[in-house]
Amino acid sequence: MSSSIFTGSCLCSTIRYTIRGEPTIAVMCHCSNCKKTSGSAFQANLLFKHEQLTFLSGELKLTDCLDTTTASGSTRTRSFCSVCGSNVLATNESSPYVRGYVIIMTGCLDGDFTFEPSVEYFCKDRCV
Ligand SMILES: [Zn+2]
Ligand SMILES: [Zn+2]
Repeated sequence: MSSSIFTGSCLCSTIRYTIRGEPTIAVMCHCSNCKKTSGSAFQANLLFKHEQLTFLSGELKLTDCLDTTTASGSTRTRSFCSVCGSNVLATNESSPYVRGYVIIMTGCLDGDFTFEPSVEYFCKDRCV
């Protein structure tokens, strides 16, 4: 078991959390909905088991947006800070691949880290 501990927050720090241990997988997603919600050219996602995540503050300030128009056809819950609008995390219990995982937006992690994607999704839609 790894002893790694990540901390993260939204832009305004209303939402703060820690994550214990390493991600199961690092995903770069080029689908149009990930681009929309990130406001960027792709989304960098780290998947952790739910039990690895502990909120320090602000969990009740998350606003959930049900994404029912995913390219995969499943319903993804995308959660934003209701104060600053940061795209903080997502879950997708309707997908057998990510059920039980929390999908952390890599850009919300604090400090120095290197994002090394182990898989890229929807490369046909990539713009970088
Ligand atoms: Zn915030
Ligand atoms: Zn995507």
